[in-house]
Amino acid sequence: MDLGLKGKVIIVTGGTKGIGEAISKAIAAEDGIPVFIGRTKDHGEKLLKELQNDGKAAYFISGDLNDVQTCEQIVKEVVEKFGSIYGLVNNAGANDSIGLENGSPEKFRKSLNSNLNHYYNMAHFCLESLKKSKGSIVNISSKTAITGQGGTSGYAAAKGAQLALTREWAVELLPYGVRVNAVIPAEVMTPLYESWLSSFKNPEEKRSSITGKIPLGKRMTTSEEIAASVVFLLSEKSAHTTGQHLVVDGGYTHLDRSIT
Ligand code: NAP
Repeated sequence: MDLGLKGKVIIVTGGTKGIGEAISKAIAAEDGIPVFIGRTKDHGEKLLKELQNDGKAAYFISGDLNDVQTCEQIVKEVVEKFGSIYGLVNNAGANDSIGLENGSPEKFRKSLNSNLNHYYNMAHFCLESLKKSKGSIVNISSKTAITGQGGTSGYAAAKGAQLALTREWAVELLPYGVRVNAVIPAEVMTPLYESWLSSFKNPEEKRSSITGKIPLGKRMTTSEEIAASVVFLLSEKSAHTTGQHLVVDGGYTHLDRSIT
């Protein structure tokens, strides 16, 4: 199916690794132009080379999204280089385990800054371009927004707020024909997930106890499966879909986990 993304410039925050990398690749596979953002230059440059070797157009900007001026500068650079922005995928973030007991007001504030504020900042700075292109925003949230996890107040609060902002922005941007949707992953093997698993005494045991509870196929979701939903929501094939929260998790969040 041709999703009609050819030549469309789409910013993917955290698009250099894990789920974001798969989203960047899925956009490139549709001949869209992914602009991926990450702090580690090596990762971004490696992905850029890989895509360019495949004959794809792509662009990498290295920067820390926790800094407001950097967000503004990134958007400015993209507009100067390409003239337009069609899509924004807010994806960068990390489950940083700032809980009630194991946190502090200052750590909570920092967690919100690194998981939530740049979602707003990037949407704010991209807005003029998105209005002109009648574009699309996809926010990557997490099942923790719905189920809770324990010990991660900052991350869960940020992920819940992303779902609220998805509805809020969908309403605000109706007059401009800009659509806003969210994708909610649960368990996806990525560098972030691997480092979280390695914090357990027996990571392999923890992994199989989790996959055993995933109703569809007793396996994790792949990054590519998340990316496929994201490119659909970016594309005109979902032209009448806005304000939606799409849970892509093999039934983990909503089906009864006692199903065998
Ligand atoms: P990941 O493997 O750690 O990748 C995160 C990406 O974001 C990297 O490219 C990282 O690059 C970038 N990034 C993080 N903070 C940044 C910052 N301040 N400035 C610029 N770039 C930044 O994570 P992932 O597992 O793919 O997660 C992606 C999204 O999915 C996150 O929002 C996460 O909450 C959500 N999610 C993941 C899972 C899962 O099972 N993996 C489940 C639910 C939700 P640098 O480190 O080089 O900056």
